[in-house]
Amino acid sequence: MVTCGVCKTDNDEFAIVCRNCKSYIQNRIPNLDFFATVWKVIESPRHAFHDITLAEHKNYSLLLFALFGIGLSYTGFWYFQLGSRFESLLDLLAKATAIGVVLGFVCAILFTFLFDLVVRILGGKGALRNSLGILAYATTPVSLTLAMILPIELLSFGMYLFTSNPNPYLIKPGLYVAFIFFDSAMALWAFGLSIIGASVSKQLSMAKSFVAALVTTLLSLGILFLVAKDLVRYI
Ligand SMILES: [Zn+2]
Repeated sequence: MVTCGVCKTDNDEFAIVCRNCKSYIQNRIPNLDFFATVWKVIESPRHAFHDITLAEHKNYSLLLFALFGIGLSYTGFWYFQLGSRFESLLDLLAKATAIGVVLGFVCAILFTFLFDLVVRILGGKGALRNSLGILAYATTPVSLTLAMILPIELLSFGMYLFTSNPNPYLIKPGLYVAFIFFDSAMALWAFGLSIIGASVSKQLSMAKSFVAALVTTLLSLGILFLVAKDLVRYI
């Protein structure tokens, strides 16, 4: 709730103008700045998701989903051990990146619609494009992983990251376990951000937000995994 400073009427959390006296009760946000918003998501997620919901344009949502898709694609190449099918690491990275961008757009649609549906069933508020913006910025930790952890992983293991002969665990066990721990922690952070995003933007309780994030993540990743299992032989 936002209380009007002029007439003291209670307004919706995301109202710009008071519904009673038409005074401005909070600033319009026409656009989102990429780095400023990403930084805010890290530093103060509740404020960030408030701004993202208020923003008229959910700028960079598709870019963030494309980066998320690339992260997911690399994870798939690692999980299905696709390294042996490529001449060089560069070939593998080029293909995994291209597939990742497409995967990112598929994720944008799949995650957004599922999330919005679950949120609606749970009694949440707000437009579909808010769901897109919230989920896109919730993937920020995955982009950070791509930019900061993946290059170190590639420098440490190279192609062995994507092959099982020998298993990368046998090459540098401590480092390999540390990387898996870091990547999992970043994924959990993204999951946590989507819970906060749902509670702020969709005005749900934390318990319902958790359910919305969990159902969306499990269903989306489950569908993608089943499809990937069949498609992986064409790579
Ligand atoms: Zn008013």
